[in-house]
Amino acid sequence: MSDCLFCKMANGEINPDVVYEDDKILAFRDINPKAPVHILVIPKLHITTLNELDNTNLAGLLLKTVVQLAIQENISESGYRTIINCNSDGGQEVYHLHLHLLGGKKIIAPLA
Ligand code: AMP
Ligand code: ZN
Repeated sequence: MSDCLFCKMANGEINPDVVYEDDKILAFRDINPKAPVHILVIPKLHITTLNELDNTNLAGLLLKTVVQLAIQENISESGYRTIINCNSDGGQEVYHLHLHLLGGKKIIAPLA
């Protein structure tokens, strides 16, 4: 989608602080981190919300990437939280599916 911020990251128009990339997935640091580690994991394919995620293989890859990044960031043992905000009441601000990975401190409050 041409006017989607995360699509622009996926196609290289905008360059975020990338921590992982493959042909299907991009992961980068959140510009407004809510924790010492705050990474967003996105499919390169535009999927608007979790409601539109019907590819179970891709769903698994996204979750597996979160775990790999938790290990890479040394928070897999201390712990972390992963969040998907969906639509307005879920607090979604960017309408391209993304998984938040938060850690590096005790995560008590919800992300909202
Ligand atoms: P959500 O509320 O789940 O849609 O989260 C959107 C997230 O995208 C927020 O945590 C923002 O800080 C983050 N964000 C917005 N613009 C950028 C950007 N240019 N680079 C990195 N993260 C961003
Ligand atoms: Zn998009």
